[in-house]
Amino acid sequence: MSPHTPTWQTELAAAFTKPSELLHYLNINTHSVSTLAEQDFAMRVPLSYAACMEKGNLNDPLLKQVLPHANELIQQADYSSDPVGDLSALTEGCIIHKYQGRVLFITTGGCAINCRFCFRRNFPYSEVQLNKQKEAKALQYLQDHKDIHEVILSGGDPLLLNDQRLESLIHQCAAIAHIKRIRIHTRLPIVLPARMTDNLIGILNNAPLPIILVTHCNHANELSEHVATACFALKKQNITLLNQSVLLKDINDNVNILQNLSERLFNCGILPYYLHLLDKATGTAHFEVKQATALKIHQQLQNNLPGYLVPKLVKEQAGKASKTLLI
Ligand SMILES: *Cc1c(COP(=O)(O)O)cnc(C)c1O
Ligand code: SF4
Repeated sequence: MSPHTPTWQTELAAAFTKPSELLHYLNINTHSVSTLAEQDFAMRVPLSYAACMEKGNLNDPLLKQVLPHANELIQQADYSSDPVGDLSALTEGCIIHKYQGRVLFITTGGCAINCRFCFRRNFPYSEVQLNKQKEAKALQYLQDHKDIHEVILSGGDPLLLNDQRLESLIHQCAAIAHIKRIRIHTRLPIVLPARMTDNLIGILNNAPLPIILVTHCNHANELSEHVATACFALKKQNITLLNQSVLLKDINDNVNILQNLSERLFNCGILPYYLHLLDKATGTAHFEVKQATALKIHQQLQNNLPGYLVPKLVKEQAGKASKTLLI
């Protein structure tokens, strides 16, 4: 790395936070940006993600995922601030234990990018921000529940923690005898590949337990060469790479787009894992793809691709013992 190469923190700090600046960068003059939508949920887009967008195209599938829109202000009856019941399942120590054998560990509220369709966009993260006290409670919870075999570091985005915090969390989880695997749910390898430094990859490689890294990517255009390089560096260290996507109206609700995504993921060393129906979080209704349409697209995918490139179509329902498989 040259001394002039920005570190990931520098790139993160320089992320676009004003729609007008992002649109200017993309050479787009006309737009219908809602500043009110921004007030509810700030815009945040790292340059490396914006660089994957098509210049001059307001309908770019990546831009649509991140540009605030007036539709976010429309209230819909069956949409809520806690659509999957995560809040009611949250322990004092930032653990969400809804499924048998595995838990989510909410390590930070922050993300490098703010996806407009995020199911956690209304989450009161300031209340769950991990501090030393909550961390101790979380670890005690893991210790006390001998049936937990997998800890899923989640957020927000756990890879926003600095290397030292992350390494310490991994080692403390791994020190608990009944924990067998550590999973990391992150969008950073995709939206801020500079985060995947040699030091971070070394930490994951030296982890005392197997690491499964689950990325979040919705469109093949998100998988630049820079992203591919970062993913291959992980794969070389025997880290299992899986991807989850959200099915999004006018962004990826089409068999060709999803097929390209699966193929490109494979070329980056990642296997498709889940394709989620949208969680009904307030402000996201304009992204919804109906279940019947989703099933049709999924069947076409199944016809066109080898089985291992077909993600499982699922939805999250509050109170259920696992995600609901739709086929
Ligand atoms: C999705 C999710 C998991 C992980 O589920 P898998 O099917 O194992 O990927 C665990 N806990 C919660 C609360 C979840 O939402
Ligand atoms: S990266 Fe994930 S948690 Fe963060 S805003 Fe996007 S969808 Fe939400």
